[in-house]
Amino acid sequence: MNNDKIVAIATGNGYSGIGIIRISGYNLDSILSGLIGKTKLKPRMAHYSNIYNSGNEVIDAGLLFYFKSPHSFTGEDIIEIQGHGSPVVLSMILKRSIELGCRMAMPGEFSRRAYLNGKMDLIQAESINDLIHAESEASAKSALKSLQGTFSRHITEISEQLINLRMFVESTLDFPEEDIEFIANAKIKDKLGVLQTSILQLLDNTRQGVILNNGANIAIIGRPNVGKSSLMNALANEDIAIVTEIAGTTRDIVKEKIIVNGIALNLVDTAGIRETTDIVEQIGIKRAINAMQSADLCLIILDSTIGLTTKDEHILHNLPENMPRLYVHNKIDLVDMTIGSKNIEGYTHIYLSAKLGVGLDMLRNSILDSIGFLQNNHDVFIARTRHLESMKQAVKHINMAFDNWHNLEILAEELRYAHNDLMQITGGFSADDLLGEIFSKFCIGK
Ligand code: GDP
Repeated sequence: MNNDKIVAIATGNGYSGIGIIRISGYNLDSILSGLIGKTKLKPRMAHYSNIYNSGNEVIDAGLLFYFKSPHSFTGEDIIEIQGHGSPVVLSMILKRSIELGCRMAMPGEFSRRAYLNGKMDLIQAESINDLIHAESEASAKSALKSLQGTFSRHITEISEQLINLRMFVESTLDFPEEDIEFIANAKIKDKLGVLQTSILQLLDNTRQGVILNNGANIAIIGRPNVGKSSLMNALANEDIAIVTEIAGTTRDIVKEKIIVNGIALNLVDTAGIRETTDIVEQIGIKRAINAMQSADLCLIILDSTIGLTTKDEHILHNLPENMPRLYVHNKIDLVDMTIGSKNIEGYTHIYLSAKLGVGLDMLRNSILDSIGFLQNNHDVFIARTRHLESMKQAVKHINMAFDNWHNLEILAEELRYAHNDLMQITGGFSADDLLGEIFSKFCIGK
């Protein structure tokens, strides 16, 4: 393990009242003595002191905190200096610390050390970065939940069920003649069923957590001129997409992030999908199809003066069967209709006018409902795509285990795979390259 002393400015760029420098490593006495002329600071207490450069000139004065290993963020010894928040002053302290034997920390290196020293698991370390970058109150709250271990606890609970099953199945492998009976008597199938239910529930929560982190991707699709751009503008309350009366105006994808009830929605206005020979338009249409296939929800926009026609088939044909969708009947001002919503064959249809800006609140609520965020239901931990992918793999293996419960060898193997997938999430068996990938996306000083 790399135990050299690292230093970084922990506060943001720019000018502020206070700026914080953090140093982590072991045997920091020489650094302390070089910076403030004394050592042996009482841990966790504020110490006011001058800070000196190599020529013994005062470069700043501020508060210092000393944290003794293992009772610190990284688990190592830490010095935290609260100086004046001037980039010049902070870089002088940084430079002095480097002269005294520290090196600049890599992005995320403090959190990485905290993880490697067992101060937190991988989910918690990642959620620090998610908390710092949270764009809404809901995502900040849920990042804090993950940081405090909510997500990790769910994973641990499921892992424990898995470990119990694995122990039983693997020990039974030693008694080949009796195995089926053993397994039947131990109600393994029932236990797998319980495991399946809990992991599917956790998969759902993880999906919600990813939406809180990244926002929900909402593709706005429909034939040209139905009012997709107008609707996107109306939802975003500003003119982002180009609105014209000429069909095929939106040739590329226009994206806009809006926040509805604390949830970020990444709206993607797609090129009107239709048969065309125009090459540029064809590229736009291809992108539109990709956007709608990878979305969390598709808004299918229809022109109320025309309704759903065979021409929409080309669009619907490209929509994955289980893709959540809302049918939005736009331009009701041109027909004798009022705003409202209806359930037709299991799908919600909303009637509105983008141009007049009526029915938009109903649409916003239906969007939140469709992606699983009913109002005020923000009691979710934050998660990342990486977690979701591992959860999906784990679910796949648990399903395989369930289907093969009578075949001990397959059962043992599938349970082992599922367990590995879950451990990847919390960092139980994470490879170095995965850690590099995760922590390199942090900011320096974290
Ligand atoms: P897109 O090609 O689907 O993006 O459609 P646009 O948003 O560019 O709109 C096409 C035309 O329909 C424009 O002239 C809009 O002003 C008009 N339009 C859009 N929404 C409405 C609406 O709710 N009512 C009426 N009357 N016209 C609308």
